[in-house]
Amino acid sequence: MDVNGSCHCRAVQFEAEIDPKRVGICHCTDCQIFSGSAFRTSVLVPGRDFRLVKGEPATYEKMADSGNARQLVFCNLCGTHVYGTTPNMQDPVYSLRVGVLSQRAELRPFAQVWCQSQVPWVGDMADIRRFSTQ
Ligand SMILES: [Zn+2]
Ligand SMILES: [Zn+2]
Repeated sequence: MDVNGSCHCRAVQFEAEIDPKRVGICHCTDCQIFSGSAFRTSVLVPGRDFRLVKGEPATYEKMADSGNARQLVFCNLCGTHVYGTTPNMQDPVYSLRVGVLSQRAELRPFAQVWCQSQVPWVGDMADIRRFSTQ
């Protein structure tokens, strides 16, 4: 499936070819912090299937518990996160953030990982009061 997207200020724009079956939710605490939200939804894409069309995103490198460096790539103007990857791999995989994709509404997650750190109310979303706009 061909997808495209951009950061909020549109300085960074990209295209990718994804497998919609590789969409997942991560409940790890790093994803909660980086997304500023309860969890993060991403799709795993081989780096060769991702193409930067515009912009030069910035990189923040974090050290995983495993000791491996992880690069988190974002727009340095508006702060939107675009993807994460592990550098120096022969065939790097990009964890592309689904929220930056124009096709995000069509991409339903297939799995959830790091459920041990899931915030407790995620399973109760349907019970939280709802308004169609603000
Ligand atoms: Zn931006
Ligand atoms: Zn995570």
